[in-house]
Amino acid sequence: MIDLRSDTVTRPTPAMLASMTAAQTGDDVWGDDPTVLRLQAATAERADKEAGLFFPSGTQSNLAALMAHCGRGDEYIVGQLAHTYRYEGGGAAVLGSIQPQPIENAPDGSLPLAKIGAAIKPIDDHFARTRLLALENTIGGKVLPAGYVTDAVQLARSRGLTTHLDGARACNAAVASAQSIAALCAPFDSISICFSKGLGAPVGSVLVGSKALIDNAHRWRKVLGGGMRQSGLLAAACLYALEHNVARLAEDHANAAHLAERLEQIEQVKVQSHATNMVFAEFPQEHCAPLEAWLKERGILTQMLYASRFVTHMDVTRADIDTFVASVQQYFTR
Ligand SMILES: *Cc1c(COP(=O)(O)O)cnc(C)c1O
Repeated sequence: MIDLRSDTVTRPTPAMLASMTAAQTGDDVWGDDPTVLRLQAATAERADKEAGLFFPSGTQSNLAALMAHCGRGDEYIVGQLAHTYRYEGGGAAVLGSIQPQPIENAPDGSLPLAKIGAAIKPIDDHFARTRLLALENTIGGKVLPAGYVTDAVQLARSRGLTTHLDGARACNAAVASAQSIAALCAPFDSISICFSKGLGAPVGSVLVGSKALIDNAHRWRKVLGGGMRQSGLLAAACLYALEHNVARLAEDHANAAHLAERLEQIEQVKVQSHATNMVFAEFPQEHCAPLEAWLKERGILTQMLYASRFVTHMDVTRADIDTFVASVQQYFTR
């Protein structure tokens, strides 16, 4: 199968599996799983932060971070399109008693500074206490402009807010903008990094930040049910990914650019945008369902809705992309 639905679909390679079966484990709830400790330290080092904490999912890592930054009745400023606001079941409000203050994202994924400034509430018992600014990078595949990030974080700081980055694809952002992961993470108090996206691990995210913030998040991870036992087995896959699969993301980005270029040559298709490992394209509405079925019969998995998203990853080759584009072409000329 050629699966272009997401970069979460990658399967562990034999080398990654070997690193998992060779992993030394302990009981991470007791804090003595050496492989988890190694992953946390290695990720913190790459991000140039004091400490790291391993989570089963990015959703839980983001939520524990929000709960470490904000208390009950506090508020965080976030984009309408942000994963933590839109795609995590409202967890901040439901489980954290944290009120989101969503702001319309600009087309480049940023939150306009004037809107952030205007959304920060005065200190007054009428209002929730605005505590945190949360950004996402990449967002919809796009890398936030570095100058923008500096300005947004500076604004947040000057108004007494802390900052969190949903860096599920921070490594994609770093590779695409030729920055180190540390440089990308530097402005933020906390960053959540996924290993189960383009980095190719089956499971896992690491939250990085100051020792004090991570200690606080550690308590919330336990409360949220994220304390795991011999999780060194999983951490080994993430360590393998960190050591072997970061630089190769450039290949996924080049493949996405190639995919966009090839799709643009099909008259019925309108490519809306492409950045890092994602391509967004429009297909005539009436063709979406039949085309999705046509592709599936040919071993190609897509989500062929209006404004479809195609994601490249380590299990998709350049040849797979050409096969996909040829099948779309065939469909329209059949
Ligand atoms: C995937 C993703 C997450 C976390 O998702 P999980 O499936 O819970 O690991 C968070 N933020 C963004 C932007 C994501 O793409």
